[in-house]
Amino acid sequence: MNTEKSQTLLEHAQKIIPGGVNSPVRACRSVGTKPVFIERGEGCRLIDVDGNRFIDYIGSWGPLILGHCHPFVMEAINKAVKRGTSFGAPTELEIELAEMVIDAVPSIEMIRMVNSGTEAAMSAVRLARGYTNRDIIIKFDGCYHGHADSLLVEAGSGIATLGIPGSPGVPSSFVAHTISLPYNDLDYISKLMAEKGDKVACIIVEPVAGNMGLVLPKDGFLKTLRELSEKSGTVLIFDEVMTGFRVAYGGAQDLFGVRPDLTCFGKIIGGGLPVGAYGGQRKIMEQIAPAGPVYQAGTLSGNPLAMAAGIATLTKLKEEGFYEKLDKTADELATGLRLAAVESSVNAVINRAGSMMGLFFTDQKVCNFADAKMSDQAIFAQYYRGMLKRGVYIAPSQFEALFVSSAHDKTAIEQSIIAAKEAMEDIAA
Ligand SMILES: *Cc1c(COP(=O)(O)O)cnc(C)c1O
Repeated sequence: MNTEKSQTLLEHAQKIIPGGVNSPVRACRSVGTKPVFIERGEGCRLIDVDGNRFIDYIGSWGPLILGHCHPFVMEAINKAVKRGTSFGAPTELEIELAEMVIDAVPSIEMIRMVNSGTEAAMSAVRLARGYTNRDIIIKFDGCYHGHADSLLVEAGSGIATLGIPGSPGVPSSFVAHTISLPYNDLDYISKLMAEKGDKVACIIVEPVAGNMGLVLPKDGFLKTLRELSEKSGTVLIFDEVMTGFRVAYGGAQDLFGVRPDLTCFGKIIGGGLPVGAYGGQRKIMEQIAPAGPVYQAGTLSGNPLAMAAGIATLTKLKEEGFYEKLDKTADELATGLRLAAVESSVNAVINRAGSMMGLFFTDQKVCNFADAKMSDQAIFAQYYRGMLKRGVYIAPSQFEALFVSSAHDKTAIEQSIIAAKEAMEDIAA
C-alpha cells in the first residue's frame, strides 16, 4: 500500500498540530501504524490522499449510520447552507429536530442542543447537580462521557487506549466527587447507594458501553440502576451519544425498556456535523437557563447546518424496516468474523448490539473494562494492520466499537470477512 502523500502530510501536521491530529486515537499509535489522510468518502468507502480505497467501519466514530455523502443528507445541508451557516438566533429547524427526538425517545420531554457529546454529558451532569443540590457523581469503569474534567476517571475510548487512568491537568479536587465503579456489577453500586445515595447527584452510564470495545449490559443492570436512583432521588443519566438512534430509533433505553431521567445525544443526531444534545424530564430540564438557574450556553448551538443534517438523517432512519435491514447486515458480518476466528483457530469474542460491535482477542466473556483489558492488544494491533493492508478500515484501538452503516452492501461485507479470515490466519501462523 502506497501511503507516500499521507506520510508527507503527517510530517507537516505534526509540526503544527499536537501529534498531527485533532483527536488522539486517530494517530493510530497503539496499533503501531500511521494515520492515512482522507480525501473523500463514498457510501461505505473511504478514499485516502494516495488513492487507496477502504471499506469504512469507523463511520466518523459513529455518526455516519447512512454512510458517507448520503444524497438525502447532502441535499439538506446544501439547501441550508445557501440560507446562511449560523445566526445565533432561533430557527424553525431547531424545533423540528427537537420534536423528532422527543417523538423517538419517550423519556424526553424537553431537549437542549449543544455542539458535541462532551458538552452534552458535561451539561447533563451540571444540571443533575444543580437540580439535586448534591455533588457526587457515579460513573462506570471503561465508560467514556467526553473529556470534561470530572468525567475523565477510569474513562474508556482514547484514554483507555493510552492506558492511563486519568489525565494530567485535571486537579484531584475536580474529581474528588466522581466515583467510578465496575460496569455490570450490581454489588458495588447497591452498596454505595445504600451508604451514600442521598448525596449522589447522578449515575451516568452508557446503556450499551461502546468505548471499551463493545460491552452489553447484563440482564437487570440498567433496571437496577433505575430502581436505585429512584429510591435516592438521584438523577439517572443515560449517555446515548453513541447508542442513540444507533441500536434502535428510540436508543438503548427503548431496546432495554428502561427510562432514564436525562439522556445525552451526539453523533447520529448531527448527521455528520458537530452536534450534541441533552434532554429529559420537563421538571429537570426547566432548571436550565434562561428557564431556570443552571447555566449553559453555546455560540453555534442549534446551528442550521447541523440541524438540517440531523433532521435528514433521522428522516431516513424512521423509514420502515431500516433497523431490521441494518441489523441483518451487521449480523452477517459478526457471523462471518466469528467463523473466520474459529477456522483460523484464533480466540475471539464478538459482542454486538445492532450495528455496533466489538472484537476481543480472548477466550473469556467480556462484560466489563477489566475483561476488555484482558484481550490481547498485541494481537489486536496485528489484526488492525492486517485489515488495513487488505482495505478494511476499523478503529485503531481495542477500546473502540465497529460501526456498520446502511451503505455497507453484500460485496463490502463479503470482502471484509475474507480480509478478516486472512488477517487471522496470519495471526495464527
Ligand atoms: C463519542 C462519545 C462522547 C463524546 O462525544 P464528542 O462529540 O466526541 O465530544 C460522549 N459519550 C459517549 C458515549 C460517546 O460515545
